[in-house]
Amino acid sequence: MRSGMQSVKGIPVSPGIVMGRAIVLGNAETHVPRRIIESDSLDLEVARLDTALQAAVEDLAILRDRTEAQIGRDAAKIFGFHLGLLQDPTLLAPMRTRIITDRVNAEVAVADAFQRLADQFRALGSEMFSQKANDVLDLDRRVLAKLMGEDENRLATLTEPSIVIAHELTPSQTAGMDRTMVIGIATDLGGRTSHTSIVARAIEIPCVVGCSRVMGRVADGDMVIIDGDTGVIIVRPDARTLAEYRIQQERFSVYRSMLRNTAQLESVTKDGTRIQLLGNIEFPHEVESVFANGGDGVGLYRTEFLYLTSDHEPTEEEQFAAYKSTIELLKGRPCTIRTLDLGADKYTQQRASEPERNPFLGLRSIRYCLQHKPLFKTQLRAILRASAFGPLKVMFPLVSTVMELRQARLIFNDVCEELSEEGVRYDPNIPVGIMVETPSAALMANAFAKEVSFFSIGTNDLIQYTLAVDRGNERVAHLYSGASPAVLYLVKTVVRTARRSGVECSLCGEVAGEAIYTMLLIGLGLRTLSLVPSQIPLIKRVIRSTTIEHCEELARRVGSFDSERQVLNTLRDELRKVDPGSFAGWVAE
Ligand code: PEP
Ligand code: MG
Repeated sequence: MRSGMQSVKGIPVSPGIVMGRAIVLGNAETHVPRRIIESDSLDLEVARLDTALQAAVEDLAILRDRTEAQIGRDAAKIFGFHLGLLQDPTLLAPMRTRIITDRVNAEVAVADAFQRLADQFRALGSEMFSQKANDVLDLDRRVLAKLMGEDENRLATLTEPSIVIAHELTPSQTAGMDRTMVIGIATDLGGRTSHTSIVARAIEIPCVVGCSRVMGRVADGDMVIIDGDTGVIIVRPDARTLAEYRIQQERFSVYRSMLRNTAQLESVTKDGTRIQLLGNIEFPHEVESVFANGGDGVGLYRTEFLYLTSDHEPTEEEQFAAYKSTIELLKGRPCTIRTLDLGADKYTQQRASEPERNPFLGLRSIRYCLQHKPLFKTQLRAILRASAFGPLKVMFPLVSTVMELRQARLIFNDVCEELSEEGVRYDPNIPVGIMVETPSAALMANAFAKEVSFFSIGTNDLIQYTLAVDRGNERVAHLYSGASPAVLYLVKTVVRTARRSGVECSLCGEVAGEAIYTMLLIGLGLRTLSLVPSQIPLIKRVIRSTTIEHCEELARRVGSFDSERQVLNTLRDELRKVDPGSFAGWVAE
């Protein structure tokens, strides 16, 4: 068992300070969770081990029989070796003894025993034995996967508020978390705008990602503090540190309630210009949070989350019900729905028989929809049917060529015609737009402007594609920045083109929710921002502290800079001048 306080630094992605016991989610490939078993649970732990071993034996027997039938007896021999090992008492007995005597969990007993055997094979020094060592490790992963398959179960059956520690979480795992039981998250991998981080922000669970090997430093049941503002994680804090963080926690909640007072004030600059603040949502019930935080409506509805949290492909009726309920909850306020943004880190890779080598540059978003027409049409039918119930706009994600937009529109028009023929009601004048989130779309904004009603700038992707920096990779997170002059140049180009062409333009990437960017975005000409609902009060506070003249002067100044550092320093200084309060330590930078 590890002991002593440790501190780990990561990337803060969802604010707030929480403290609680850790639940470490394992990953057979990368990390084996470690916990001390209570004396009265040792028999249960041995039973867990035996069940996992039995399940692995059954899987292998099926594989052996199938291989023998399809390829032949020789090819199936390897499974004979695996099966023999899994039933060999000289390997299994020490695992059981280890659980009882050292009180370790089954995963640790399995991993250590297989590792020892693999080392023994390797020490024999021949090619044949080192192949055997690989087989042993393969078997190790198979048994561990059986044991760790229970992780989802453990998450679903938590009995006390806990802090989830994982190597990596998928957006759907995060979206499916019970907020009353999961109070904080820390992961080894991830960046500020990876979708898991976006979901953690949306459901307001303090979260730190991109931590250096946090999994290896925490054991199940350890006390952990997560500081979602600074990105610090304290493992096994001493009494003094706990007390200090409790004071910080108190400060944070005072700050939050102070901000809540701003929520219902008007979103208007000191010189009277109204800035529309909309919410980014993933699920209909988040509309409530948009209103509670003083938002005017929904500027980005990420519809793919219905797919991510469902165990089957959502039907037209299920999609329609979700969209209609969102529109009804909005009571006439605006709603921009985005067609499915599946692919990359969302949904399709986990299910693909052959995962893509470069999924963020692969078959994602509109590209995926154009290659899966029935799926796309089903969604468009659901969207159009919902449009009969309130104001709705629709936009396509990740459009990179005008041809793609035209193809999408053709399918859209087909669906409109089908609905008309069936006599189904929909809004025939529903505005159609695109997300501008690839450099090509930004550079060709002029051409796109002739064919759409609106642009919504998606900086999360625009940054990653402009700078060639994976938005979810913690190793290059220091290179990922909305303050990059190249990105700002593209944003400026799109806003200007839109204005000249009479096309509406808003911005819905995460920078819209970061206070240091607010004045710059207004200065660049944006009058509508869509952001995570919980940040609306803070952004409103900045808007109410500044003037258009000041924002435009700032945008001009920043436009002449050639380094991201210079831009950031200037934005920070200006924000400090107009709203020192927002620097109380909770401004995302
Ligand atoms: C974006 O890319 O900026 C965006 C809003 O879309 P998402 O984060 O869902 O990719
Ligand atoms: Mg995007």
